[in-house]
Amino acid sequence: MKIRDILAQGKPTLSFEVFPPKTEAAYESVEAAAKEIAKLKPSFMSVTYGAGGGTSKYTVAIASMIQDQGVTPLAHLTCVSSTKEKVHQVLEELKEKKIENILALRGDIPADGVTPKEYRYASQLIREIKESGDFCIGAACYPEGHVESENKTDDILHLKEKVEAGCDFVTTQMFFDNNILYNFLYRVREQGIMVPVVAGIMPVTSKSQIKRIGLMSGTELPVRFRALLDRFGDDPAAMKQAGIAYATEQIIDLIANGVNAIHVYTMNKPDVAAKLRENLSEIIR
Ligand code: FAD
Repeated sequence: MKIRDILAQGKPTLSFEVFPPKTEAAYESVEAAAKEIAKLKPSFMSVTYGAGGGTSKYTVAIASMIQDQGVTPLAHLTCVSSTKEKVHQVLEELKEKKIENILALRGDIPADGVTPKEYRYASQLIREIKESGDFCIGAACYPEGHVESENKTDDILHLKEKVEAGCDFVTTQMFFDNNILYNFLYRVREQGIMVPVVAGIMPVTSKSQIKRIGLMSGTELPVRFRALLDRFGDDPAAMKQAGIAYATEQIIDLIANGVNAIHVYTMNKPDVAAKLRENLSEIIR
C-alpha cells in the first residue's frame, strides 16, 4: 500500500524505523528484531540506507522481509555518495520486490568530501524516482533547520523544492520539544507546503544514546528532558522507563494537537516499540 493513502485516512498512525545490519554476521539478529517490531502491526515500517554503501545492500532485503510480514515497508535511498547507475539498480530491485514507498534522501557528505558528484540535493533524486515508476515518495525535513542551512527560511524553501519535485509526504528529524514542531508546521503551511508531515520521535533509553544524538544532529534538549538525564542517566532501567514515558507524552500531546502521523525511531529495539504501542493502545487504535 502507498503511504500517502495510509496518511490520507486522517486517523492517527504509528510507524516504526529500523536500520539494516552493517555486516552479514549481524543480519539474523536485525531480521529477528524487525520481525518482532512488525508483529506490533504498525501503520508502516521504514528501513534506513547507509550513505556510503555500507549497509545499503541490506535495505531492500529487510524491507522485503517486512512486506512478507504483512506490514507496508518504506525503503530509504540516499544519493550523494552514489552513482546514477547504482540508484537505478536499487530502484529496479524495489520494483521487483513490489516495494512502493521510498524515502528519498541526499545522505550526509562523507568526511573527506569525496563524492561521485552525480547528485547534489535530494530534490534531484526525487525527480528521478518520479520518472522511474509509480512510487510513493517521502523526504526528510528539519524542524530545527538542517545543520548545513544558514537559516530556517532557506531550509523550508528547499523543502518546498522537494515537494514540487514530487514528494508525497515528509518525515521530520527527531525533536524533543513539541513547540518546535508546531512552529515549523505553521511556517511550512505558510509557504504552501501542504503534504502530510510525519513527526519523528526518538525514545531515548540510555545516556550514551543521547550523547550520540547531541553530537550527530545538534538537536535542542529541553530543560525538562535534561532533568531526566541528570536524575536517571546512570540507572539504565530507570532511564529506559523515563525515556519511554517522555516519548509517550510527546506523542499524546502531538495527537491531541492534530498531528496524526507519528514515526518512532526504534533503534531496532522491539521491547521499546512494544511498550510505546501498549502505552498508546487506546489513543492509536
Ligand atoms: P537535502 O534536502 O538535499 O538538503 C541538504 C541541504 O542542502 C540542506 O541544508 C538544504 O537546505 C540544502 N539545499 C537543498 N536544496 C538546495 C538548493 N537547491 N540550493 C542550496 N541548498 C539546498 N541519512 C542516511 O544516510 N540514510 C538514511 O536512511 C537516512 N534517513 C533519514 C531519515 C530522516 C527522516 C531524516 C530527517 C534524515 C535521514 N538521514 C539519513 C540523514 C540525511 O541524509 C541528512 O540529514 C543529509 O545531510 C540531508 O539529507 P536531505 O535528504 O535532507 O538533503
